[in-house]
Amino acid sequence: MTFTDVLVVGAGLAGIRTVHCLRDAGHTGSITLLNGENTPPYDRPPLSKDLLTHPEAVLLDEDLALNTPAAATTIAHNTRALTLTAIPVHPQATAHHPPPHPEPRWQVTTTGGECWDAHHVVLATGASAITPPAWESVATLRTLDDAARLRAALTTPAHVAIIGGGWIGIELAAHLHAHGHTITIYEAAPTLLAAQLGAEHGARISTLLPNITIHTSTVITNVTHDHDRTRVTAQPPHGPSWQASYDVVVAALGATPHTELLTTLPEAAPLPPGSPIPANNNGQVTINGQVLPGLHAVGDCATWADPHWGAITPGHWMTALTAPTLLAAAIIASDNNEQPPPIPRPAPHTFSRIGPHHIDVFGVPHQDHTTTTRVYSATSWVTFYHTDDALLTAVLIVNSPRDTAGARKLLAHGPTHVNSASLTDTTVPLKTLRTHP
Ligand SMILES: Cc1cc2nc3c(=O)[nH]c(=O)nc-3n(C[C@H](O)[C@H](O)[C@H](O)COP(=O)(O)OP(=O)(O)OC[C@H]3O[C@@H](n4cnc5c(N)ncnc54)[C@H](O)[C@@H]3O)c2cc1C
Repeated sequence: MTFTDVLVVGAGLAGIRTVHCLRDAGHTGSITLLNGENTPPYDRPPLSKDLLTHPEAVLLDEDLALNTPAAATTIAHNTRALTLTAIPVHPQATAHHPPPHPEPRWQVTTTGGECWDAHHVVLATGASAITPPAWESVATLRTLDDAARLRAALTTPAHVAIIGGGWIGIELAAHLHAHGHTITIYEAAPTLLAAQLGAEHGARISTLLPNITIHTSTVITNVTHDHDRTRVTAQPPHGPSWQASYDVVVAALGATPHTELLTTLPEAAPLPPGSPIPANNNGQVTINGQVLPGLHAVGDCATWADPHWGAITPGHWMTALTAPTLLAAAIIASDNNEQPPPIPRPAPHTFSRIGPHHIDVFGVPHQDHTTTTRVYSATSWVTFYHTDDALLTAVLIVNSPRDTAGARKLLAHGPTHVNSASLTDTTVPLKTLRTHP
């Protein structure tokens, strides 16, 4: 058994940012990082946008100018955490014989055969791509290995089916189409991006994808492999199902958070399978209102309760980048028996690149809210999601980089009331739309 002050499980963006945010905030204790993959930490967004044009991994340390080996005390590569157990409060502790300080509270065993006792464990275990188990020969896109396999299957022009019209599915569709492949997207919802933006605005984004065949309201019920071709069975909303064969089929159905480490914790028993790890606004794992001291979760494996935005859904790069700042401050505060400092948290932000088109979403689009769109051109617009009394909850920006800073400022303190008469006025800067400055 080896002791570490902080054990970070998972070396994706959230994991390595946790290491650096702890050091930046003055943490001097030992930090151990378990990297479950056999490559140095890398960035995932380029996998769907630059799959064929950038085969090399974009390493996070290089991209973000970080030196993780210098910041972490120990990095165990190609090492996954296997079990997580709570260490009972030191049995002999009395006023005269206090427990060791810092006291180990969690024990983690690893695939490398180590056993770590830690004062804090940070779960930054991310998520894995969803694939129905019965589907044969379906590609997914989550890891560098996934990307390498897909690239190898696309060396000559291919007919590719992409199942799932969310962000990753349509980014990949646009990229592959631009590089000579023939693309068909299948989406169960009435439009692409319906879950993310609502049907009306998902349909509008579809106009940025000409020359791609899109079947919406169509459910893929089976996928089988036969002589180098993969056959899908599609069920449209009306009429009989039909089949089609493709060279390559990619499932872009979303991701399931890695929560396996919680399965042996009795406190986690009420969590529904596949749901992210619930945490409070500082990243402390909090189940049914009970905080588990010294256990934290961040990034794609977690959902944080935000005072302004409610439960933040995982799956966004910016959340993995920024949330560790709050987490690190909370860890240091708890070690000093202090309350976490009030650190402003930026509005949720999703970005996407669909071929040449840049899209940003700030805030949380509510499907039942009113939307108002200001149009700059057929390929450039801004949609505001708001209540009937002009409380702005989200801004969707399509190909208008000059509006991103304004949208970020507008929503910096949560949903805000805006001057609804000016929303469509292309001459009014976004940052001036707030009615109560
Ligand atoms: C193809 C693709 C494109 C994307 N594009 C965008 C985009 O354009 N915009 C956007 O906002 N977001 C995008 N995202 C999402 C964004 O990349 C993620 O939100 C971000 O990478 C999450 O980082 P993370 O560190 O939480 O998780 P991950 O990057 O998944 O890292 C978690 C790490 O933990 C490891 N791990 C899991 N279990 C264990 C264990 N038991 N022990 C040790 N290690 C473990 C995993 O192997 C993994 O290496 C994209 C994601 C993908 C896959």
